Amino acid sequence: MGAQLIDGKAIAAAKRQAMKTRIESMKAQGFVPGLAVILVGENPASMSYVKGKIRDCKEVGIYSELIRFPETVTEERLLAEIDKLNEDKTIHGILVQLPLPSQISEQKVIQAIRPEKDVDGFHPINVGRLVTKQEGFVSCTPAGIIEMLKAIDVPVAGKHVVVVGRSNIVGKPASLLFLNLDATVTICHSKTKPLSKYTQQADILVAAVGREALIHAEDIKPGAIVIDVGMNRNAAGKLVGDVAFEEVKEKAGFITPVPGGVGPMTRVMLLENTLLAADRQNKKG
Ligand code: NDP
Repeated sequence: MGAQLIDGKAIAAAKRQAMKTRIESMKAQGFVPGLAVILVGENPASMSYVKGKIRDCKEVGIYSELIRFPETVTEERLLAEIDKLNEDKTIHGILVQLPLPSQISEQKVIQAIRPEKDVDGFHPINVGRLVTKQEGFVSCTPAGIIEMLKAIDVPVAGKHVVVVGRSNIVGKPASLLFLNLDATVTICHSKTKPLSKYTQQADILVAAVGREALIHAEDIKPGAIVIDVGMNRNAAGKLVGDVAFEEVKEKAGFITPVPGGVGPMTRVMLLENTLLAADRQNKKG
């Protein structure tokens, strides 16, 4: 293997360890950070994500509440719960697990969360803060990608970063974060033709598409840093990314595995955002 592996699992574990100490000292001052997670329905993937988030909170000592609603819940009822959590002093972060059933507007729900408690960073105010380089909350996956690069001590300024994917939760915020760190950023999407013309120029390539083996060895520059956000099930039912790992790892300088790369970083950044929210709200009193 030519590339060095970026071990997201290990980086995230080290971050959780450091958080435990931080939370212990918060608790010694009588302050407990709290996260509320709202789950609507019984979507197995959502249930498993939420379970993981609650488990992570327990591990580091964050107080967590899981609030469940049936698939048939009304938008009004959900918004009323968010209002209550917005006022709850023991809750510093609120997360509504997406997707939501069709009778509920995701945008209305996202915008009902007070921006100070929007630990997913999806509220338009937080997105605007990211655009204008102000303090806010950044969506967990892009924030996790930056943390990974910090952990391997790779400076971003002046690098050409190519982000494949332009979703509101990954591609766009990742591009903005890199831009704010003085990278030169190219954003690619489904209409980019030919994709390889751009990916081959990347010093840092972020693949956030959701398509197995979209990126092959011939699509990257030798020595590139390859960040694979994709999560796909292959024909054998195995979890794989967007990058043809076996061939790309021979040519890349650094590469993230799937699983064990971006996924654990996304999870740990939710905890980081919750602590940040708690700190900021504690300071405000
Ligand atoms: P979306 O489906 O919202 O966005 C996918 C993006 O990929 C779109 O911008 C789309 O372009 C683009 N795209 C689709 N096909 C191509 C193509 N052939 N060439 C270039 N671009 C293409 O997905 P998400 O951003 O939510 O997620 C992306 C992947 O990351 C998924 O596999 C998801 O499961 C995974 N993920 C992983 C996380 C983790 O923690 N590891 C967290 C979040 C997501 P267009 O806009 O033109 O349609």
